[in-house]
Amino acid sequence: MIQQTLVLIKPDGLVRSLTGNILTRLSETKLEIVAAKITRVSKEVAEAQYRQLRDKPFYPELIQYLQGELHDRRKVLAMIYWGQHAITKLRSLAGSTNPEEADPVSIRGSYGRIRTSGLFENVIHASSSEAEAEREIKLWFQPDEIIVDLYPTQEVTLKEVKVRQWAP
Ligand code: UDP
Ligand code: MG
Repeated sequence: MIQQTLVLIKPDGLVRSLTGNILTRLSETKLEIVAAKITRVSKEVAEAQYRQLRDKPFYPELIQYLQGELHDRRKVLAMIYWGQHAITKLRSLAGSTNPEEADPVSIRGSYGRIRTSGLFENVIHASSSEAEAEREIKLWFQPDEIIVDLYPTQEVTLKEVKVRQWAP
C-alpha cells in the first residue's frame, strides 16, 4: 500500500542540530522524500495542525512550541515521505508521543524530553492516519511544491495577485 505522510522536524529538533541524525534514521525506511521546505509556522497553521487538541490544557503552549517560540527558532522542516506503508513506518520510527514511554531506540525515545510544564518536546511529527496525512499535507503544502500527484487538483486563473520577485 503506497502512502504519503507529513513529517515535521519541530523547532527543538532544529535548535539541537538533530536534523542530520533524524534524516539518516528516516532514510532507513527507503521511502522517497517528495516535498521539503524550511518554513515559518503561522499561528493559523499551528492551530489547524493541532486542532483536535484545542481543548487540552497544554494547547496554548503546544502552539507556541510548534511556532518555535519556546526555542527562539521560528521555523520547522516540513517534508512529505512517500512509499510502501509510509505512515506506519514513520510512526514506528518516531516512537510514542510521550518521549519517556517511547522505545529508547525510536527518535522520540532517543531525543525527546518533557518540559517542566509537562509538554512533550518530541522533536518530530508524523501523520497518524491516511485521513490525517491528507489534511496535514494540504495544510502545509501547495500542489506545485510536491513532485508527485498525491490528491486531485484543479486549475484556476487568478487575476491581480501580488507576488514578490527577485529585484532586477
Ligand atoms: N502533546 C503533549 N502532551 C500530551 C499529548 C500531546 O505535549 O499529553 C504534544 C506532543 O508534542 C505531541 C503533540 O502534542 O507530539 C500532538 O499530540 P498527538 O496526540 O497528536 O501525538 P502525536 O501524533 O504527535 O504522537
Ligand atoms: Mg497526532
